[in-house]
Amino acid sequence: MAGYKVFKFGGSSVKDAEHIKNVKSILEKYGNDKIVMVVSAMGKTTNALESVIDRMDDEHTLNRSIKGLIEDHLSIAKELDIDTNIYRLKLENLVQNAEDTINNHTSPSADFIYDQVVSLGELFSTSLIELYLNKNGLSAAWLDVRTVLKTDNDYRRAKVHFQRTNAEVNKCIPQIFESSDIIVTQGFIGESDEGYTTTLGREGSDYTAAIFAYCLDAEEVTIWKDVPGILTADPKRFENVEKIERMSYREAIEMTYYGAKVIHPKTIQPIQNKGIQLIVNSYLKPDKTGTIISDKGLLNYPPIVVIEDDVILMQISSKDFSFIQEDHLSHIFRRLKESNIALLAMRNSAISFTLCIKHPGDQKLDQFIELLGPQFGSDIFKGLQLLTVRHFQESLIQSLTEKKIVLFEEILKDTIRLAVKPALELKEKTNS
Ligand code: ASP
Ligand code: MG
Repeated sequence: MAGYKVFKFGGSSVKDAEHIKNVKSILEKYGNDKIVMVVSAMGKTTNALESVIDRMDDEHTLNRSIKGLIEDHLSIAKELDIDTNIYRLKLENLVQNAEDTINNHTSPSADFIYDQVVSLGELFSTSLIELYLNKNGLSAAWLDVRTVLKTDNDYRRAKVHFQRTNAEVNKCIPQIFESSDIIVTQGFIGESDEGYTTTLGREGSDYTAAIFAYCLDAEEVTIWKDVPGILTADPKRFENVEKIERMSYREAIEMTYYGAKVIHPKTIQPIQNKGIQLIVNSYLKPDKTGTIISDKGLLNYPPIVVIEDDVILMQISSKDFSFIQEDHLSHIFRRLKESNIALLAMRNSAISFTLCIKHPGDQKLDQFIELLGPQFGSDIFKGLQLLTVRHFQESLIQSLTEKKIVLFEEILKDTIRLAVKPALELKEKTNS
């Protein structure tokens, strides 16, 4: 028997009725193949749910704050000719459960509340898609991923318990496939040891797909996107981008580590461990082959450019002129971790340590500086871009840094990283 396939459909691929119809037409091409379909929240729903939480802070209940979002989902259901009474009931049940969970908790933390609310996006989208597929002749079953995907209690950034998840997935999935061809389930969410909903971190649905593939020893994983595959740079920023036909797991993990948004950085490890190939394909042109990630990469890659915006360069120095040594470094790293700040690049010299970090917001940044303590001074440059170029060529670097001031440069074998600032702005800043 052929193995299972895992498909991941992100938010933009299911953002409205037209797109959901398109997803169905993709599934139809696969006949009776057994497909686990991992789906994100529709369009920008996750962001909308984050604002629902803000409104709840102003004494509104979840039920009241979420009304608009429910209506948006219902209007898409109507366009898809789905029985909106059934769908409304499902949505209201899901919301009521989340509200009860929050209210029955004696001291819910902000992260706990976040997960109970934000997880609704995936539950809403998958409920709609399951109804739509079944109404249109496909044999689909809805799976509440929380019954199989088990995590720790670290809300908002939960870690997956692989062994327990593996056991649950294998107990449950083959059984559902006995009577259905497609399993529609949620990306990004799971269930904690305490039995509450957790989330795996923003954009975590790719990772969910990889977890299913790992547990099921899937034949392959396909991530359906709005781009034709993995490209040499972000097509929204550059004109002459090329699709990369094949890529090794290693290259893929490197580029996601440096901030390429095309797949979530945690996705590669589980599928690499089992040697499962990952395909990045376009839902707009599903008949073309996108990029295949496996252990067979290219011999020579073209230059690949990854840009991280809103980066801060911080130069931390010891005020008493003492050397930056292991004890200083471990102090700085601990404070970074406590402040939940993502470190992107670093370098040390005798009495200073340079960091490039993602701007964590002014409040968190101030808190971090305070945590560092009075023995350190810091110079801060905000509003930078961190450019990473894999397999770089000099001419490309020259054109990328034209009219920019390079504040940090690091070359590691075939990778160059540059923190840059548009020249004009830097001048303005030093004058003020
Ligand atoms: N819906 C979640 C987010 O927007 C997870 C995902 O899309 O992968 O972050
Ligand atoms: Mg998404």
